[in-house]
Amino acid sequence: MRTITVIGSVNMDLVADGERLPREGETVLGGRFRVVPGGKGANQAVAAAAMGASVRFAGCVGRDDYGRQARENLVRRGLDVRHLRTVRDHTGIALIMIDRRGRNLISVAPGANNHVAFNRPCDIAVTQLETPWHRPRAKFLILNPAPAGKVSMKGVDVVIPNEIEAEQLTGHRGPEEAVRILKRRGAGHVIITLGEDGVYDGRRHRAFRVRAVDTVGAGDTFVGAFAAAVAMSYAEPVRFAQAAAALKCTRPGAQNVPSRREVEAFLR
Ligand code: ADP
Repeated sequence: MRTITVIGSVNMDLVADGERLPREGETVLGGRFRVVPGGKGANQAVAAAAMGASVRFAGCVGRDDYGRQARENLVRRGLDVRHLRTVRDHTGIALIMIDRRGRNLISVAPGANNHVAFNRPCDIAVTQLETPWHRPRAKFLILNPAPAGKVSMKGVDVVIPNEIEAEQLTGHRGPEEAVRILKRRGAGHVIITLGEDGVYDGRRHRAFRVRAVDTVGAGDTFVGAFAAAVAMSYAEPVRFAQAAAALKCTRPGAQNVPSRREVEAFLR
């Protein structure tokens, strides 16, 4: 099995649940609050490890309680954290609001994530755009361009944006045109995730039908499980990743991901 290196963000998610999301300038009252580990990089690494992959994590946390909690969490999830550095800044924080249908609003204060720089050779590298962009030295590179930003797609083996990121990157609403444009820019393969509508990668793949309670981290679970499926040479990595992401939507919390056994049982 090939090792996955996830180069990316670590956050603590400060989450408030409520009946509905506030409009601009509005206060809504009555939700519950919790603090849970997050960050796209950490979420994807945790998902890949839960699928049984060997995962090392390269990132930064701050010298604060949230940083210590975030590090402990990654260790507990079985990641190799030798390249998780503690730096002089605050740990990344995401403010998340979730309504009763599982829809969300998210604002991120990156802090320590702005210090991430990693240039050792990797077998399979997975990265996002919540940390400064440096092209990883990888034999196989998976990029989740989130949040959408200007980076070259040349030499990226698989690009996995969601629908909004695909539109921001290409200026096109339809996934068909967005896939064509990203490929023309040099991406080897493009997979656009479409929430409960599944994915488009040149053809449509329907999502699995589940009762969603929290879709925060659905995309991260998809990316992590996809990377794990590639590392383990699975025949249908998109189907496997969609199953993992759908199961994640049935549970609260970005890192509340299923195990490989649960995904395999679901697929049967
Ligand atoms: P992001 O979390 O980045 O916005 P998406 O919302 O596109 O990403 O979700 C990623 C993947 O998770 C989808 O392609 C789909 O496979 C799965 N997924 C998301 N929402 C649901 C849902 N309500 N039911 C089933 N699967 C879902």
